[in-house]
Amino acid sequence: LKLAERGYEVVLIEANRIGWGASGRNGGQIIGGIGHTPERFKKSLVRQGINTIYQMGIEARDIIKERVETYGIDCDLKWGYCDVAFKAAAYERFCRVA
Ligand SMILES: Cc1cc2nc3c(=O)[nH]c(=O)nc-3n(C[C@H](O)[C@H](O)[C@H](O)COP(=O)(O)OP(=O)(O)OC[C@H]3O[C@@H](n4cnc5c(N)ncnc54)[C@H](O)[C@@H]3O)c2cc1C
Repeated sequence: LKLAERGYEVVLIEANRIGWGASGRNGGQIIGGIGHTPERFKKSLVRQGINTIYQMGIEARDIIKERVETYGIDCDLKWGYCDVAFKAAAYERFCRVA
C-alpha cells in the first residue's frame, strides 16, 4: 500500500487467496505489542532495542488509524483495551512497566 501510494505499480503474489494467512483470520485487536513483553529480550536487544519495539507498536496503531480514515474502511474501529493480570507475578510486572 505504501508503495502504491508512492506511485509504484504493485502486484500481490499469494499462494492461496488474498487474506488467507494470519491477516485474514486474526482477532482484530490493535494492541501494538508483540505477544510477549519486550523486556524478555533485554539481553539481546538492550534498552534501545526494547524502546524501538514499543515505538513501533505506537506507530503501527497510528498507521491503522490513518489508513482507516484515508480509505474509509468500514471496520467498526474502536479504541481501548484492557490488560488483565491473572497472577501476582503478572500484576507486579504491570506495576513495573506502568
Ligand atoms: C489466530 C490468530 C490471531 C491473531 N490475533 C491478532 C490480533 O488480534 N491482533 C494482532 O495485531 N495480531 C494478531 N495476530 C497476528 C497477526 O495476524 C500476524 O502477525 C499478521 O497477520 C502477519 O502478517 P503477515 O503479512 O506477515 O503474514 P500473513 O497475513 O500470514 O500473510 C502471509 C501470506 O503469505 C502467503 N504465502 C506464504 N508462502 C507463500 C509463497 N511461497 N508464495 C506465495 N504466497 C505465500 C500465505 O498464504 C499468507 O496468506 C493473530 C494471528 C493469529 C494466527
